[in-house]
Amino acid sequence: MSKIYNFSAGPATLPEEVLRQAQIDLLDYQHSGLSILEMTHRSKGFQQIADQAEADLREVLSIPADYSVLFLAGGGRTQFAMVPMNLAAENPKMAYAETGIWSELAIQEARIYGEVTIAASSKANKHTRLPAATDWQIPKDAAYLHYTDNETVHGLEFPSPPESQGLPLVSDMSSNLLSRPVDISRYGIIYACAQKNLGPAGITIVIIRNELLARKPFDFTPNMLRYANQAADKSLYNTPPTFPWYVAGLMFQWVKKSGGVEKFAELNRLKSSQLYDVIDESAFYINPVDPAGRSRMNVVFTLANPDLTPQFLQEAQKHGLYNLKGHRAVGGIRASIYNAMPQAGVDALIAFMRDFEKRFT
Ligand SMILES: *Cc1c(COP(=O)(O)O)cnc(C)c1O
Repeated sequence: MSKIYNFSAGPATLPEEVLRQAQIDLLDYQHSGLSILEMTHRSKGFQQIADQAEADLREVLSIPADYSVLFLAGGGRTQFAMVPMNLAAENPKMAYAETGIWSELAIQEARIYGEVTIAASSKANKHTRLPAATDWQIPKDAAYLHYTDNETVHGLEFPSPPESQGLPLVSDMSSNLLSRPVDISRYGIIYACAQKNLGPAGITIVIIRNELLARKPFDFTPNMLRYANQAADKSLYNTPPTFPWYVAGLMFQWVKKSGGVEKFAELNRLKSSQLYDVIDESAFYINPVDPAGRSRMNVVFTLANPDLTPQFLQEAQKHGLYNLKGHRAVGGIRASIYNAMPQAGVDALIAFMRDFEKRFT
């Protein structure tokens, strides 16, 4: 394959061996004569894929038996609606942490269904510093507490989950699930769209404590958007996105084979700290995020002379370093270095950054 490194925030880079396997199965799935794209979701073959994907994810994340795993369509943003629709009908009061664009969008969506209390916020510091533990004010009577584990746009990540004061904790882990071990038992719901760290666009993972499946949704909740329906039908309530589901399954196997989430925690710590070191050691590059909240997945930075940003991006691309442009809301540079970004990609970026700095200071 051609040697480019794709630093896109999502859809993001995938391991070559996963792409190669998908290529084989695209033509002829395990000598069945059928393409994976042509297999009905009601077939034994697809059921095996689904069962294996769930078993592998359960193993990789040590998901306890009293949790269900759902594979849904609609991306992260459908979860912004499904969470309040399913959890807040009988008590439409919800608590949200506001730590960046993704949590702000989740809050906007939740406000359709009830009253949102901001339990903690980093808005005043432009989402460069996580709210201190002592600054959280969680209403004890809320239906749940929602927070965003990794803010993909701002490069702000929780090193550990917040205290939820007994409320079911709901976490958007769209851009960092499988990047490190997670104590699932601390959560009511974890959701993650796949196209960041888990696989291709089109499938979203929901890990939900079974007890929450018993909550009564709002009466108007479409059948498709009821967690209990999806759990009862093993996520086969309607025709699911079979291909992204299958590729996510390949990714879970790849994570397992590569040493599991413990190994990725180590690699991700290393890759991100190498980049932050280069940024911190120079006056040429700036990362505004408090070190305690720096993301291991999305390393954002600006150039001290922002006029050089277009040239940085253009030359980076000539060196095979693609999609480093920061999110349109914050500008600058963003290097998304998910599990599938190899050390060699980070090395190449660092070499380029050092060289660019030398030439332009
Ligand atoms: C990308 C992203 C989303 C939105 O995902 P879609 O699948 O595009 O709806 C939500 N939350 C976070 C943290 C994300 O990074």
